[in-house]
Amino acid sequence: MREPFIQPLTIIKELEQHGYEAYFVGGAVRDSIIGREIGDVDIATSAKPKEVMALFPKTIDVGIEHGTVVVLYKGEPYEVTTFRTEGTYEDFRRPSSVQFISSLKEDLQRRDFTINAIAMNRHGDIIDPFNGIEAIEKKVIVTVGEASERFHEDALRMMRAIRFVSQLSFTLEEETRQAIRQHGSLLQHVSVERITVEFEKMLQGDSSVQAFSLLAETKLYSFLPSLQVSDNTFSKLLQYKWHLLQHVTESWALLLIGLHNQQIESFLKNWKLSNKTIKEVRDYVSAYTQIRTEGWSPQLIYTYGVHTSLAVNRICYVVGEHEVDESWIKQVNQELPIHSLQDIVVNGADIMNWLNKKGGPWLSELLRTMEQSIVSGELKNDKDAIREWVQSCNQI
Ligand code: ATP
Ligand code: MG
Repeated sequence: MREPFIQPLTIIKELEQHGYEAYFVGGAVRDSIIGREIGDVDIATSAKPKEVMALFPKTIDVGIEHGTVVVLYKGEPYEVTTFRTEGTYEDFRRPSSVQFISSLKEDLQRRDFTINAIAMNRHGDIIDPFNGIEAIEKKVIVTVGEASERFHEDALRMMRAIRFVSQLSFTLEEETRQAIRQHGSLLQHVSVERITVEFEKMLQGDSSVQAFSLLAETKLYSFLPSLQVSDNTFSKLLQYKWHLLQHVTESWALLLIGLHNQQIESFLKNWKLSNKTIKEVRDYVSAYTQIRTEGWSPQLIYTYGVHTSLAVNRICYVVGEHEVDESWIKQVNQELPIHSLQDIVVNGADIMNWLNKKGGPWLSELLRTMEQSIVSGELKNDKDAIREWVQSCNQI
């Protein structure tokens, strides 16, 4: 059993000692079999949420109605979810209530794909009633049960299928793929927040190009926020090596650049992204646009900062245009005489004093010109030099 399971093993043993069944389930078991890095370790149990809470000193109720309790053990959070079925589905969304059951197999049956429906007991034995291991060996994503039925229950699963293609470099089993092609429009019933989570994971996967290709081929893309574009436009996105970007914010910027979409704010608001992300993406796109027209310059690196410059350079690399050496950007940044207005040895008060003038729009204008002259190296960041420069400006 791999290292991430060792600590939470104690939770499973504790539950078993009190007469309950408990297993590792979901992504961690899948990734351990594949040999990928293991993320969150989740546990499924026959104990009811209240029983789980009674057993462990530190728990957080994160959704008792869905059967999930977080157990904090040695400072780490573990999701412990009661075996459940999801009962009836309404409006193609997750049900608002679930039924707790006593059978592991039924719990595995409600899970989306066979690769995600594998359990492991405390001895490391695998319980795999839906042949998830075979699917892992064949590298296919296939729904547990009939694909079209499973997508009617919860249409988000179509997006999940495609994000697993991206993350695991697997392919979609034929029936699962056909069902996505047929039922894409069901995605409109799913909340944007849930779609965004899956889409961002897709953007960051190693095989995101394959995922984009599936979105195009099944036309699922056209049911995603802000993506009601032509097939031709969408297919342009297939030319980029998305996985070479470092952060999802860079991927959002590349998406807008690739689609030639200038409505950055409304595009990203439709995906319900945070204002912080929107601001960052806006910066990336505007720096990129400036580089395309004017090229790189110390001024640009000063204006946007080294972090944004490096991010935009990665975008340039992926687009295949205007990329420069990363070390050049770092060096130019290091050699900049100032990194912000605060670094100038003179302030507005000094200038008003020297010229015996009250503040006003003229002052901010002058400060801006001064900043530019210092960054370009025309003016030294030195009090006497700046004073002389200010006085000469005042005579004009
Ligand atoms: P990751 O490594 O990205 O967390 P994961 O497989 O653990 O991948 P989660 O979203 O954390 O994905 O979900 C945990 C498990 O819950 C899944 O492995 C799957 O068994 C089940 N699951 C999650 N979402 C759904 C869904 N929409 N329908 C059915 N089962 C789901
Ligand atoms: Mg998970």
